[in-house]
Amino acid sequence: MAHLTPTVLVVGGGPGGYVAAIRAGQLGLETVLVEAERLGGVCLTCGCIPSKALIHVAEHFAAVRRAQQGHHGVHVAGQARFDMSEAVAWKDSVVDQLSQGVAALLRRAKVKVVRGWATFSDAKTCTVVREEAEPLTIAAEHVILATGSEAAAIPGLPFGPDILSSTELLSLDALPRRVAVIGAGLIGLELGSALRRLGAEVTVLEAQDRILPQYDAALTAPVADALARDGVVVRLNARATALAARRLRVEVAEGPPLEVAADKVLVTVGRRPRVQGWGLETMGVDMVDGFVRVDDQCRTSMGGVWAIGDLTGEPLLAHKASAQGEMVAELIAGRRRRFTPAAIPAICFTDPEIVVVGETAGEGTTTAVFPLAANGRAMTLEAGADGGFVRVTARTDDHRILGFAAVGRGVAELSGEMVALLEMGAVLEDAASLIHAHPTLGEMLGEASLRALGHAIHI
Ligand code: NAD
Repeated sequence: MAHLTPTVLVVGGGPGGYVAAIRAGQLGLETVLVEAERLGGVCLTCGCIPSKALIHVAEHFAAVRRAQQGHHGVHVAGQARFDMSEAVAWKDSVVDQLSQGVAALLRRAKVKVVRGWATFSDAKTCTVVREEAEPLTIAAEHVILATGSEAAAIPGLPFGPDILSSTELLSLDALPRRVAVIGAGLIGLELGSALRRLGAEVTVLEAQDRILPQYDAALTAPVADALARDGVVVRLNARATALAARRLRVEVAEGPPLEVAADKVLVTVGRRPRVQGWGLETMGVDMVDGFVRVDDQCRTSMGGVWAIGDLTGEPLLAHKASAQGEMVAELIAGRRRRFTPAAIPAICFTDPEIVVVGETAGEGTTTAVFPLAANGRAMTLEAGADGGFVRVTARTDDHRILGFAAVGRGVAELSGEMVALLEMGAVLEDAASLIHAHPTLGEMLGEASLRALGHAIHI
């Protein structure tokens, strides 16, 4: 059997694993990356990137349809038509380009990529079963686990041709006429609202009494209004239990069960760390709540075994995984690093978007909001009438900014400045004194900070 003995073995080629491998290679460490599927992981091949491509197409289609009725002087005559297979082909081309880009970056960093499924027999040794070559054993000095997560299923509704996770939904060749979405979380609402804009009838079923339960009610209200305006049916306190003959049985908090007609059911009730099927149990690492336990350097309880990304717990976000991966490579190379970010930004890519960076409330804090309705740029983007706002939260005593939150069209792009202000330990006076270009949405960060100080200019 073929055998490799690199310094670093990375398992999983998603945004955690491939970044760790590239950095390790750049630092001159002999590095092997094992990936069974395409480079880029869920994020790039069937998650973040494909969903944003579909959301973009849906916005484009909705704009054309608005113009059919005449919209601010733009008129489109004739029938607007959406072809799912063409949209999916374009999405696939974006994914191909990015995945090939990752392969090229790994080559440039001299990382050896092994295609196949790795199964560990002890903490530092695995066997990779490959499609077109004999099995390969790899014994490494350092192992970086980056196996990611997979969609959670619902008992009674196993994944199949009509019960889909986001992965299958993003590769359909035809738009389903009626879609039931189970779970009004990030994936359910991002994809559910896009499908509605593309012309599907969409019903969202949420077990809790509100959509996007991870956010406060003020942030989600503009999203709920937009869903209602678009014609997405949302049923709260509702749990789907079974599907038969294209009818979904739904238990509701009060009253008899409902039946929802659905050609496809999209299950988006969270994701689970991928901890089974690759020998994790042989590695002797401690677990916590189903995730691999790591410290603030992403060390597991087993010496020389590191874990990053979704495997290690919330938040399950690509950019967290990448940051951890880059850090671990540097630690292995002997640099001094810790994973102690001031904030990890989180964005919900609905329309309007929600962005949260850091804390958004708490004892001893002052908050202030600035509405998109008072921002010139927002008005020119037709984003002013949706009830959106930017909120700043700061310590009352010394004005240290603890967090920002925003809801509105285009606010996702504010996350970079929000993070920068938090990482640099800015106080309200710092944010208020920055000169923002006019007209931009960023002006609202300064205005919200001024308002927290009691002297906003534009409200
Ligand atoms: P989620 O945790 O965001 O939402 C799941 C929702 O399903 C919750 O509202 C929950 O109450 C509901 N639910 C659970 N069981 C249910 C049931 N039986 N019936 C009805 N509703 C039920 O999960 P998700 O949308 O699947 O996303 C998974 C993860 O992927 C997220 O935690 C997030 O970290 C990541 N993600 C991030 C982004 C982004 O950054 N923009 C986008 C999509 C996903």
